[in-house]
Amino acid sequence: MFPKMVERAQSANTSHTRSCQMESCNHPTREGKPYCPDHVDAHPYVQSILDTLAARQAEEERVRAVGSRAVDLEGLTAKELVLHLSLHGARTVERLSRELQLEVDVLRGYVHRLSEEGTVAIGRTNRGSTIVRLAEDE
Ligand SMILES: [Zn+2]
Repeated sequence: MFPKMVERAQSANTSHTRSCQMESCNHPTREGKPYCPDHVDAHPYVQSILDTLAARQAEEERVRAVGSRAVDLEGLTAKELVLHLSLHGARTVERLSRELQLEVDVLRGYVHRLSEEGTVAIGRTNRGSTIVRLAEDE
């Protein structure tokens, strides 16, 4: 019983010992992972996430530069904004900016575009702040 367990542990260990799949990297990886920590971003799944985040970043840069027409309504940021409003209700632009960690100018681009699409409605607080809510809420 005892030797068998040892044997098993060893073979499990062997099958989980892999080298990083990155060319020119021979670092062993842990727990059977295909890439070492230095090259984990070469993993296809990780790469697709990084691509998505990079696309989001590029889109936000364009919105900052040219305004609401650069907004991708199918992009992460627009969807996140709509989801946030659906979960939390009406918000001022300033508060949305903080909560979504988006610059106010960039956020205004998204709000403007989504209001043109009829997805959100824009109002004013007594203090003159712009308040945003999902259009269905009206
Ligand atoms: Zn590596």
